[in-house]
Amino acid sequence: MRVKFLTKSGGVATFILASLIFGLGGIKWSVPILTFFILSSILSKLRKSRNSQVETYFEKSGVRDYLQVIANGGLGGVLVIADFVSPDGLYFLIYISILAAVCADTWATEIGTWKKTATYNILNLQPVEQGVSGGISLIGTIGAVAGSITIALSGIFWIDFAVYQYLLLILTAGLLGSLFDSFLGATIQAQNKCVVCKKVTEKKLHCGKETKHNSGNVWISNDVVNLLCGISGGIIVIILKEIAKV
Ligand SMILES: [Zn+2]
Repeated sequence: MRVKFLTKSGGVATFILASLIFGLGGIKWSVPILTFFILSSILSKLRKSRNSQVETYFEKSGVRDYLQVIANGGLGGVLVIADFVSPDGLYFLIYISILAAVCADTWATEIGTWKKTATYNILNLQPVEQGVSGGISLIGTIGAVAGSITIALSGIFWIDFAVYQYLLLILTAGLLGSLFDSFLGATIQAQNKCVVCKKVTEKKLHCGKETKHNSGNVWISNDVVNLLCGISGGIIVIILKEIAKV
């Protein structure tokens, strides 16, 4: 909270989640999620100091509240309990894939909005404003690859099959998960419109006025999309593992 990585509610949620993950999973389960939270928060701070313009679009700033913590790490809490009750290497692999997907998505946003760059709607590839949900860019995709690989490396010491197969599985799951996130962002995620400046935004308040619902489902917030992104990463790795027979 002191270095503004978390709000008060985010601090409480992180404390509970961290106790659960470190208490039941030890170092093995703690390293990957700490890697994600710490590096993403630093990246977010750096990006904001370089390009704060896109901030007028994002629903939330880089300071995480409890919903963001649950959306990104809550599934990890469920998996560490499952693994504690009935140990199975698959739980840890799913955990890494979920983190890879949410990290890929986060880094795609942070690195993709580092500087001004051409951004396209994932559905029709028409140019869109940078930072808009469902927008993809080359730099953002490189960010997604970097995020997936970083999470894969953070869990590599505890994997009991071939390293290259493991890296390929996690990279694919992370990348596809983040693309799925963009797809949801372009389709069902709630988008609002500022009544003053007419800008499409995730924010509920813009230019000091309440925004109007513009498109998507009002219940599908950015946090819901992030949760679905994580779940997709977990499902993709189960399918890939089955196909690759590792
Ligand atoms: Zn406005």
